[in-house]
Amino acid sequence: MSIGRSWWHEILLLAAFVVVAVILGIVSGYPSGAFLLAGAIYIGWHLLQMLRYHAWMRDSENYSMPISLGVWKAAIDGAVELRQSERRREKQLLQMLESFQASTNALPDATLVVDESGTIEWINQAATRLLGISRHDVSRVKVSSIFASSRFDSYLKNNNYRTPIKLTSPVDNGVLLELRVAPFDENKLLLQLRDISRLEQLETVRQDFVANVSHEMRTPLTVIRGYLESMRDAGESMDEWQPVIEQLDRQSARLQQIVEDLLLLSRVEQGEATGIEEIVDVPGLLEALQTEARLLSGERAHRISHQADEKLLLKGHASELRSLFSNLVFNAIAYTPPRGVIEIRWFMEGDSAVFSVLDTGIGIEQQHIPRLTERFYRVDEGRSRKSGGTGLGLAIVKHVLNRHDGRLEIESHYGSGSTFVCRFPPSRVAKSGSLEAAEVSSPAGRIL
Ligand code: ADP
Repeated sequence: MSIGRSWWHEILLLAAFVVVAVILGIVSGYPSGAFLLAGAIYIGWHLLQMLRYHAWMRDSENYSMPISLGVWKAAIDGAVELRQSERRREKQLLQMLESFQASTNALPDATLVVDESGTIEWINQAATRLLGISRHDVSRVKVSSIFASSRFDSYLKNNNYRTPIKLTSPVDNGVLLELRVAPFDENKLLLQLRDISRLEQLETVRQDFVANVSHEMRTPLTVIRGYLESMRDAGESMDEWQPVIEQLDRQSARLQQIVEDLLLLSRVEQGEATGIEEIVDVPGLLEALQTEARLLSGERAHRISHQADEKLLLKGHASELRSLFSNLVFNAIAYTPPRGVIEIRWFMEGDSAVFSVLDTGIGIEQQHIPRLTERFYRVDEGRSRKSGGTGLGLAIVKHVLNRHDGRLEIESHYGSGSTFVCRFPPSRVAKSGSLEAAEVSSPAGRIL
């Protein structure tokens, strides 16, 4: 019913009261008394309706609706309509919530919401299975109690969630989980834990395969190179074969270098220490490296300089670090034209230790830079082969840096040169003044 009609009904009702009051006034001879009585009944009825309306609006289960008459009909119809649309909205929200819960429960990854105090606020089904927490624990349990690992705690507190970390499942030692964290709202965290056991297994199989194949190739290659050596020294009888022997020698040397690089890469990838962790005398190592670099440059006469903070040492694996630094320096020589400049620097910047190699070489186009540390990625395959490159150098650099908590930055301008920068965190820095001479590893030895 429209509001206009309700008002008409109300006016009719009022008119009926007036008519009754007039008749009563004439019949009784007290017209003012009759009007007063009719007015009191009219106002009393509206007050009663108001009271019932108020009670019904508050609790429609226990109070009945006021009489739907006159203006009250419009008010009651409006309230009923409002209530129905509210119920429909509630139902819709409930359905949305249920389908959200069903979809998060269907997720194979454990998902948790944690508040600013570290208390778990919400979990999905997979979290109960992968982490052994129950729905009853929600709002009562701190997330730090799930993993008995200080790594987990410090990762959460660090506020740097760019790189995910791997953790063992608290309910099954054989299950490896990858943790990703996304902050949201003001201080809340969304934690996602993915079971990566199978991926990890496949990765181990791949690494083992590469390591085994490389290892198996080592001995036959040594034998082949041994025979080639003898053939080269065999004298006149082999003269006509010399060009072929030289070609074979070059190719087998390349193959041998690839095998050695692959073996080193597998060792570093598998986290197998190549040598024990020690305090490495980087300035001494760079001194030796500069001499090797000059030999390698030979007639190309690069202008190689090196500047090192003599007191700045590094905690790590000497042989791996030798390999890291030499790969960057030898690349600078390989990709810089004769008489180009190569600057090697080792210094402190803020509280980090920095190793940098600058060259005035051919440079690298920007689109190649993100892919340089992939295995066998070369910008120019022909040039890399000619310079004796295996395509594994920068992959080794990246893995050695990872193992030493370091970071690689590459800045390059095509045609004018490149700078490769390795940054090591304060936890890896050591100062020579604070150490006994015997503790410091000597840089002597072959550069890998
Ligand atoms: P490679 O054995 O081919 O040198 P790396 O992994 O060491 O393999 O390097 C990958 C590629 O990056 C190289 O093939 C080369 O194209 C490019 N590169 C590396 N260092 C430099 C540099 N200093 N200047 C120009 N290009 C470089």
